[in-house]
Amino acid sequence: MRLTVVGCCGSFAGPAGAASSYLLEQEDEDGRTWRILLDLGSGAFGPLQAHIDPATLDAVVISHLHPDHFLDLTGLEVFWAYNARDLPRLPIFAPDGLAHRLRAVLGREGDVPDGVTCLPFDHRPIRDGQEIEIGPFRIEIGAVRHTVESFGMRVAAGGGVLTYSGDTDTCDRLLELARGADVFLCEAGYIEGRDDRFSGVHLTGRRAGEAAAAVGARSLVLTHIAPWTDPEVTLAETRAVFDGQITMARPALVVETESVRALP
Ligand SMILES: [Zn+2]
Ligand SMILES: [Zn+2]
Repeated sequence: MRLTVVGCCGSFAGPAGAASSYLLEQEDEDGRTWRILLDLGSGAFGPLQAHIDPATLDAVVISHLHPDHFLDLTGLEVFWAYNARDLPRLPIFAPDGLAHRLRAVLGREGDVPDGVTCLPFDHRPIRDGQEIEIGPFRIEIGAVRHTVESFGMRVAAGGGVLTYSGDTDTCDRLLELARGADVFLCEAGYIEGRDDRFSGVHLTGRRAGEAAAAVGARSLVLTHIAPWTDPEVTLAETRAVFDGQITMARPALVVETESVRALP
């Protein structure tokens, strides 16, 4: 399974890249490449087009309804609804209420864009414990700890496992989702000390590292670092508690679960 970081900036798009969006690709036994997106936050639909033709997406899974994780679905919807090609309805797995939220942003009554006759998106609510199958991907959904209903995901495909934290503070469900993951794509939005007055919102480098160590993750990719945070501080916090492979997410970073599994 191949992960491509489309955007990884924490909380809002930054000067060097978009907010959260991660592309996963996996070939099936017939050689067809399946593509799913985990989140499509502010600014991420732009760089997505530099990586793939968005029409080749098979589904999108949204972790929670904060704009830095779903807002660029507005761009994807325009692309899908008004495309010269006749595209099949795209499954969008998301917390309940996404369709309503998009209607509010777009200022319209229903889910059908003006001037077209059919729905571009097939909205499918997600819940804790749900198992989703999309081509070769098996996705386990788990409710994590954030300021709004928020979900992490454990994605298995091609013999590899990638866990995405979504936005969360420390919680048991995150550990269940990340058990033995080849790639643990984990947010570290806060800094120890600086952000101690907030709880139940984000992890820090240290808390992400502690989670990775607790579950025996093979590698940790730290993400959701805001522009006002020095990533070296986050990295140092993590290194102090996790001695596995650590990578800072950056736009266009590619990680293959197969190469992680081949590590000594
Ligand atoms: Zn966020
Ligand atoms: Zn959030």
